[in-house]
Amino acid sequence: MFDYLIVGAGFAGSVLAERLANGLGKKVLICDVRPHIGGNAYDFYNDEGILIHKYGPHIFHTNSAEIFDYLSRFTEWREYQHRVLASVDGMHVPIPINLDTINKLYGLNLNANQVKEFFDSVREPREQIRTSEDVVINAVGRELYEKFFKGYTNKQWGLDPSELDASVTARVPTRSNRDDRYFTDTFQAMPRHGYTRMFERMLDHPNIKVLLNCDYQELKNEVRYNELVYTGPVDAFFDHCYGKLPYRSLEFKHETHDVEVFQEAPVINFPNEQAYTRVTEFKYLTGQSHRKTAVVYEFPRAEGDPYYPIPRPENTELYRKYQALANARQDVHFVGRLATYKYYNMDQIVGQALTVYSKMVGLNRKAAVAQSDAAAKIYSIGNGNAHRKGNGNGMGNGKTHGTVIVPAEVGRISGAV
Ligand code: FAD
Ligand code: UDP
Repeated sequence: MFDYLIVGAGFAGSVLAERLANGLGKKVLICDVRPHIGGNAYDFYNDEGILIHKYGPHIFHTNSAEIFDYLSRFTEWREYQHRVLASVDGMHVPIPINLDTINKLYGLNLNANQVKEFFDSVREPREQIRTSEDVVINAVGRELYEKFFKGYTNKQWGLDPSELDASVTARVPTRSNRDDRYFTDTFQAMPRHGYTRMFERMLDHPNIKVLLNCDYQELKNEVRYNELVYTGPVDAFFDHCYGKLPYRSLEFKHETHDVEVFQEAPVINFPNEQAYTRVTEFKYLTGQSHRKTAVVYEFPRAEGDPYYPIPRPENTELYRKYQALANARQDVHFVGRLATYKYYNMDQIVGQALTVYSKMVGLNRKAAVAQSDAAAKIYSIGNGNAHRKGNGNGMGNGKTHGTVIVPAEVGRISGAV
């Protein structure tokens, strides 16, 4: 008998598994339909030995010391500031749009004050910022909106920016200085040995069993448990009774090239001509040295694995109906990007999972996070030599030694409880 069945071994499920086992001593079974842990953050070494992110580039950034410290129990870090160029008018220029973007694009030599005046001269102030179009046009006007945002957003979401909530393009700021970092958060770093190794350490507990290649639908009547944590799509949980919630999908095309460096930046965005939105070269992110290099192209798709909730009013309205059903289920905790239909980054999902846990145990979040962490070793950025008990093989194969069970064994598990 398990205390908890957790559906999904991404950030949401793994944080809860770790807290329930380490903080409360609960017995947990965590299952994932995929053949690995880590959810969308899963990384692994490809055939050439290059560390790549299977589901597209994942860069960790947060302003929360609490969340960063919590994850530092399971990984050392490599400091990393992300930078992106956009391919516009046959040039590669910084995005977010900054002083250098404007100067390069228009062959100017403006300073920060002058670029502010430039933005003031081209922006079209909007009284109400309701949509993703409003955000950009209000900040930089129509021409820059069309060069950088309109095409990219249409491709990425299959919708015009005017059909999407303001929050989508508001993720990308406009700057009048020369700061070309994609994020400005206090903590920006990559797990030194990859995300999968970090997840292996989170799930490394005698009370946690991991079951891969296993759909919750097939498992739910096979195991006995008290409570459920569900991190899959919320509409699927309720058999799409109100109709399908739209999620946007992607197809990833991975390539390895026989050159040391493929492109001049970690990510290049292609707002206009190409069918793909962006190309990522992983070695920039991971810091790995290798004589070859690996890249991934992202092609947006309407069908396929659900990767992005689509923030727009009609979808929020439909989600509210599912949320009402979810709220009525005292025995099930809905957590994560798919189960709460929120376009959240990794750190926000960790925060959400820690909050759910603190409510489960009736403690404030600080106390809930601190539970049983006395033995934990805290890693810091650049602390590459630190070691902590961990059973990962470092090859990022997503297997958690000694605790992984396969579907054929489910009968044995339920029989044994
Ligand atoms: P997921 O990682 O999706 O995990 C849910 C898991 O549940 C999945 O593994 C799924 O297989 C499993 N599951 C679903 N249904 C079932 C079922 N019926 N039975 C069994 N298992 C099931 N965030 C950042 O902070 N920085 C970034 O740079 C960044 N880049 C991103 C790039 C891309 C292309 C994408 C798609 C996302 C990116 N994110 C980034 C967001 C990040 O991936 C999410 O915030 C995070 O992974 C969400 O964690 P989760 O546990 O909620 O969901
Ligand atoms: N966006 C854009 N052009 C860009 C970068 C972003 O139009 O060069 C818009 C697009 O709608 C995108 C959103 O801003 O989906 C958020 O961008 P972000 O890079 O945060 O997307 P994610 O990494 O989550 O896919």
